[in-house]
Order: sequence, then structure tokens, then C-alpha cells
Amino acid sequence: MSRGTLEQVYEAACSCGATAHFRVKKAGDAAHAAKLAHWAWSTTHGWQCPICLITAPTMLSATTSTDGTKVIITFSKAMAIPPNDQKINFLVNIDGVLAGVIAIALGDTASKYELTLEDTIAVGNVVTCQYNPGTITAADGGRLAADLKPVVNVVIPPAPPEG
Ligand SMILES: [Zn+2]
Repeated sequence: MSRGTLEQVYEAACSCGATAHFRVKKAGDAAHAAKLAHWAWSTTHGWQCPICLITAPTMLSATTSTDGTKVIITFSKAMAIPPNDQKINFLVNIDGVLAGVIAIALGDTASKYELTLEDTIAVGNVVTCQYNPGTITAADGGRLAADLKPVVNVVIPPAPPEG
């Protein structure tokens, strides 16, 4: 075995559990080999896989629809179309009672989701929206982490009867 032809297999493990193997001729080449595979090494984060390198989306804010039938979440970036089975991972709480989410869809922009509720939010209800990690990602693949946001209640009261 002559110098320069000996291959080493360098194993990288990301904190998310992903692993990768890089074949390098010397340990110093691992960072370069990783870069080619879209992995990265840093002293602060250790190994990071391509998905974890993507800036994760965050929930910026949430509001009700004016008719109280939906919760509209605004994210920090464009989101992937949400799989319908992910509706169970969004917990909408109305005055301390969990409301059923019956549908989830992109909103009027790609950085918004609309959750359609089984129950209707009324004027003055205190509402929160929580995400329990499932498979929700941004359009670029960044994973949404657990979060809890107050929901701004903008339900418009019904018009008073004309007298
Ligand atoms: Zn990772």
C-alpha cells in the first residue's frame, strides 16, 4: 500500500440520525468529500446532512379566518403542499378545548397553510395552534420543528338585527 492510494472510509453522522460514508485518501479530504455530497462539518454543529443544512421553516404567526372556520398559519418561507394526514399534527385549542382539524391545505400564498376546523371559532375565543412534528416541510425540504403560537382572533361578529 503506497501513500496516496490507501482509501479510508470516513463515516459522518448527523444529529438527525442520518449517516453517510465518504471514501477519502486521507482524513483531511473528508470535508471536501462531504461538500461534494452536500454534507458539511463545523466545530459548532459537527456533521450536518443536506436536509439539516437547510434553514428550517418556522411558524411566524397565526390568525383565524373572519368567519371563524379556519386557522391560517404564516411561515417564514414557502412550504411544501401539506399531506392531508398531517392535519392531526396541528392542535388547535379554542378556549381550552381541542378543536378537530378536518383539512389542511396551502393558503393564498405558498408560505401559508389553512387548517379547516370541525368547530367554529367565535368572537373573543382565545385560540392557540400547536405543531407536533410529523412530516411537514418547506418547499426546499427543511423540516418544521415543534412550535406553539397564539392565534389572532379576527372573527367578525354577526351584524345586529335591523330594528
Ligand atoms: Zn440531519
